[in-house]
Amino acid sequence: MIPQETIAKIFDAADIVEVIGDFIHLKKSGSNFKGLSPFANEKTPSFMVSPGKRIFKDFSSGKGGNVVTFLMEHEHLSYPEALKWLANKYNIEIIEKEETHEQIKEKHQREALYLAHQFANDFFKFSLRETDEGKSIGLSYLKKRGYHLKTIETFEIGYSPNNYNALENKANEMNYSLETLKKSGLIKENEKGNYDFFRGRVIFPIHNITGRIIGFGGRTLRKDGNVAKYFNSPESDIYNKSNVLYGLYQSKNEIIKNDCCFLVEGYTDVISLHHNGIQNTVSSSGTSLTDGQIRLIKRFTNNVVILYDSDPAGISASFRGVDMLLKDGLNVKVVLFPTGEDPDSYANQLSNEEFKLFLSDNQIDFISFKTNHLLDKTENDPVNISKTISEIIASISIIPDVVSRSVYIKKTAQIFEMDEQLLINEVQKKLRSKRVTNSFNPSPVHSKSTLPSKPFEKGVKHNLIEQEKDLIRLMVNYGAHSIPLKVTSDNEESIEEYPLAQYIIEEILTDKLSYNNEKYQLVFDEFYDGLQKGLVLNEQHFVQNNDLTGLIADLTTSKNTLSYNWKKKHQIHTKLESEMLKQAAHQSVYIFKLRVTENLILDKQQSLKNLSSSESSESIMEEIKELIKVRNIFANELGIIVTQ
Ligand code: ATP
Ligand code: MN
Repeated sequence: MIPQETIAKIFDAADIVEVIGDFIHLKKSGSNFKGLSPFANEKTPSFMVSPGKRIFKDFSSGKGGNVVTFLMEHEHLSYPEALKWLANKYNIEIIEKEETHEQIKEKHQREALYLAHQFANDFFKFSLRETDEGKSIGLSYLKKRGYHLKTIETFEIGYSPNNYNALENKANEMNYSLETLKKSGLIKENEKGNYDFFRGRVIFPIHNITGRIIGFGGRTLRKDGNVAKYFNSPESDIYNKSNVLYGLYQSKNEIIKNDCCFLVEGYTDVISLHHNGIQNTVSSSGTSLTDGQIRLIKRFTNNVVILYDSDPAGISASFRGVDMLLKDGLNVKVVLFPTGEDPDSYANQLSNEEFKLFLSDNQIDFISFKTNHLLDKTENDPVNISKTISEIIASISIIPDVVSRSVYIKKTAQIFEMDEQLLINEVQKKLRSKRVTNSFNPSPVHSKSTLPSKPFEKGVKHNLIEQEKDLIRLMVNYGAHSIPLKVTSDNEESIEEYPLAQYIIEEILTDKLSYNNEKYQLVFDEFYDGLQKGLVLNEQHFVQNNDLTGLIADLTTSKNTLSYNWKKKHQIHTKLESEMLKQAAHQSVYIFKLRVTENLILDKQQSLKNLSSSESSESIMEEIKELIKVRNIFANELGIIVTQ
C-alpha cells in the first residue's frame, strides 16, 4: 500500500503535459495542448490535455481522466504501478510496507514479467562486461562491428554465455522464480530438463516506450551456419510485436526534434545509424511494418524515410511500407543503398558527415522511387510505362489529404509528360471505387450541452440520466460563477448574486429530488458538503478520484476546445456558455423537474389502473391532480404550455 500522503505528493508533482508528452507529440492550442489520439488511428488531432484542469480527454475513443488514469490506460499499468512510475519520474520516495516473498509472488503477472526481463538483462549485461567469455567473444565482436561503448550502454546490449544453464543457474543462485522466466521464453524445457533459450549470442534488449525491457533479440556468434542467425523472444503479456518498434525508446526525442523518423530493417541498422550520428531511427525488427507501429511513429512525427537494402526483398518491403504509410497520411521518402550495401554496412563505410550527406541527397519521394524501380530496364516499353503509371496512381489515391494528392499528381504529370486532367480523372475513379467498399464512418460529435432537443413530451416516460448529467456538468464547470437571482424578503424584491452551484443545489433540495446515477449523486453530495463549509468546489476537487476522473474529464472538455486556433484565426466569437449561465442553469433545473414530475404522474396513472379498491383510487387521483398542477408550473417556467 502506498500511503495517502505520498499519493497526494505524487499528484502534486506530476505535470500532466510533461507526462503525456513522453508518449504523444503535443502541440499548444490556446490554453490546452492537443495531439493525435493514442487510442485510435486518426489523422486530425482529437486528443487534448488541459494543464489547468490537469485532465486529458480523447474525443476519438471517449477516454478521459487524470495523469494516473492516462498511464493506466496507455501503458496498461495498475493503479499502484502508475503511481510508482510517476514517483520514479519525479524522484518521490515511496515507503511501502516490507513485502513478503509471498506477496512478491502474487504481484501482478505483468509486473513479474517486466522484472524477469530486467533480471535477465542485468545478467546478460554483466556477462558481456565482466566475464572472460563475454569480453573475449561478445565485446570483441561488437567492437569489430564498430560499436562504441557509449552505444552499447544506450542500447543496453548484453551477451548470453554459450552454456545450456547459465541463466537458470543465476536465477537459482538469486532465488529467482523460474516460472516467469519460462513464461517469457527465456528458459525452455524438454525431456532432458530446463535449458536457456539464448546461448552464445549477443543480446539486444527490446524496450517499450517507457524504457522497460519486454523482449530480446539474440544474434549468434557462430559462423558455421548451423543455427539461425537471430533468435527472438516470443510474444507475451507485455510484448506484442506489432505494437513495438525497436529503438523508439532511445530515439523518440530525436524524432520529435528532427520531425522525421528513419525506418530501417533491424537491430544492427538502428544501432549503426545511432552511433554514426543518426539517432532518429527505428526498426520493426523481424516483422513487416504494421498499423500499430505506424500509429506509434505518428505520435512523434508525420515524416518517415524508409532505408532498406536494394535487393528484391528490400524493395518489395519498401513498396508495402510506402503504401501503408501513405494510407495513414504520412509523408514518405525512400533512400536506396548501392547494391550489396545496407544501412548498417554503408554507415560504417562513410564518415558521419558523408553518410548524413548521402541520406539527404538520396531521399526520393515514392513516385520517383516507383518510377526508378519499375521503369528500370524497359524504359521505352509502352506496356511497362502504363503499368508503372497505374502503380503510381494506386499509391496516390491512397493518400487521404487532397492537397498532397494534387501535388503528387502534378509531379507525375511532369515526369511522364502527361495531361494532368487525365491523371486526376484516374485518381478520382480509384477513389470512387474505394468509397463504395469502405463504409463512411463519421467521427462522433461531442456536443457541449447535453440538453435534449425536445425537453418534454406529455405522456412519455423520460430518461433522466442526461438531465442529471447536465446539472452536474454545470456545477463542475461553473459552480463558483455568480448568477443574479431575484430574492424576496419582507415583501421587497431585490437581485442578489448567488454561486451557480448553490442555486442548483437549493432548487434540487427544495423539491426533494435526487439522482439515479450514483456518480452524479456523489458529486452532488460533495458539492453540498462543500457549501456547508462555505466552499464552492471545482473540478480539481474530483480530478484525483480515479472513480470520478473520467467523468470529470468528460464533463469539463468539449471538442470545441480542439478548434481553438481555427476560431481565433477566423475571429469567430461564440457566445460562451458562461455568459448565459443563468438561463442555462434555470433551464436545466426545470427540465429535470418537469421530467421527474411527468414520470411520477405516469407511475401514478399506472398504479391506478392496477388498483381494485375504489377508496385508495380516489386519493391517488387527488395526488395526480396535484402533480399535474406542479408539472404545469414547471412547464410554465420553461415557457412550455402543456395541453390537457
Ligand atoms: P551480418 O553481420 O551478416 O550483416 P547482421 O546481424 O547485420 O548480419 P543481417 O542479416 O544483415 O544481420 O540482417 C539485416 C537486419 O535485420 C539487421 O539489422 C538484423 O539485426 C535484422 N535481422 C535479421 N534477421 C532478423 C530476425 N530473424 N529477427 C529480427 N531481426 C533480424
Ligand atoms: Mn548486416
